[in-house]
Amino acid sequence: MNKEQNPYQNAMAQLKKAAEIKSFNLAGRPKGAELLARLENPDREIRISIPVKMDDGSTKVFEGYRVEYNNILGPYKGGIRYHQETNINEVKALAFWMSLKCAVAGIPMGGGKGGITVNPKELSLEELERLSRGWMRMLADVLGPKKDVPAPDVNTTPEIMDWMNDEYGKITGDKSGAVITGKPLGKGGSEGRGAATGMGGFYVFESLRKDLGLPDKCKVAIQGFGNVGQNAARIFAEHGHSVVAVSDSKGAIYNPEGLDIEKVMGHKKVKGSLSGFPDSKEISNEDLLELECDLLIPGAFENVITEENADKIKAKAIMELANGPITPEADETLFKKNVPVIPDILANSGGVTVSYFEWDQNLKNEHWSEKEVFEKLRPMMADSAQKILQKAKENSTDLRRGAFILALERIAEKL
Ligand code: NAD
Repeated sequence: MNKEQNPYQNAMAQLKKAAEIKSFNLAGRPKGAELLARLENPDREIRISIPVKMDDGSTKVFEGYRVEYNNILGPYKGGIRYHQETNINEVKALAFWMSLKCAVAGIPMGGGKGGITVNPKELSLEELERLSRGWMRMLADVLGPKKDVPAPDVNTTPEIMDWMNDEYGKITGDKSGAVITGKPLGKGGSEGRGAATGMGGFYVFESLRKDLGLPDKCKVAIQGFGNVGQNAARIFAEHGHSVVAVSDSKGAIYNPEGLDIEKVMGHKKVKGSLSGFPDSKEISNEDLLELECDLLIPGAFENVITEENADKIKAKAIMELANGPITPEADETLFKKNVPVIPDILANSGGVTVSYFEWDQNLKNEHWSEKEVFEKLRPMMADSAQKILQKAKENSTDLRRGAFILALERIAEKL
């Protein structure tokens, strides 16, 4: 992650660029100026201090956040990130993108995001539970199924969602589970939530593949091997594409003939890292981004493709499964180089869509099968992808601005 770059400034630059497209002209439309003004600031940003009793008896105070960006379309919705570099600007940017993402996905939810500045790997399981319950205790009064519904993000798991849901139930008496999504199966979680972001991305890719001039069987390089990267790698490989490189925080592995993803997943599980995987060459995360391939999928963090390396990208197309991996300057370079970018707010919206399904199931006390979940997800993702392609063509612009236009039009309708 490039720490110099403020992701919130990037997000605002993206908004400005989309709003100013002459053929779209947001400010000149009914309610357009009002919407633009509202989107330049979150409704509410909350910072909390969470005291946690550590295993050695001492007390440590962690900084936590919840940003409620806007609820024009419905309750605030967005994940909680645990990371040592998480800060308010990152959370604000992510909350802004959630507002647009829910609109792109066509779901009745607004945008929010949360986080804690912490390296969870330095905590014991018990400390992690106390921290997570602490975050919920401090925020229980602003959250709620009809108010603000969090979910997992980087380094937060179904188990953490379960602790938080349990804490919320103890405080408020609401045991519906609809206050938080991404819960474990059997604890109110939805079938398909774990794979939803990767699967949704794959449906988008399938819908746009021919339009982007990509071959039937693509060579794919994926940065990140967590929830998103691992599921994407598995799904692309299962559909006959060749995943030539994957990476985690320690580095990348590459085989131009394609990696056996099932075996890579087994190796990562046992060794805790990708390093040492047989039949592969170890390369850096930077090298992975510059590989010769059909599709590059950044699936880890923001600001990894910047002015410095955009010119060196050799992929024929990029699909952003991570949030904000490409800076606005790099976007321009890629557009000039004719490298299409499937933007995050479309590509990774499968996650929030299945989160919305989970919330809906909890409120109705239903449980849908995985088949049902993916049968509902696929047409929604394909429809949004085609609408965005259309918007981009109509306005002679790239897919990111096409996605912003679709989202802004949908939000403006509800103002
Ligand atoms: P995760 O914590 O499960 O995985 C993150 C991965 O990134 C890990 O493999 C980690 O090793 C790797 N990583 C960490 N630092 C890195 C670095 N400097 N270079 C390369 N890789 C590095 O998180 P996740 O849920 O997979 O989320 C990844 C991205 O996808 C984030 O941008 C997140 O906001 C976005 N996203 C996630 C979801 C979801 O459903 N989980 C939904 C939408 C968007």
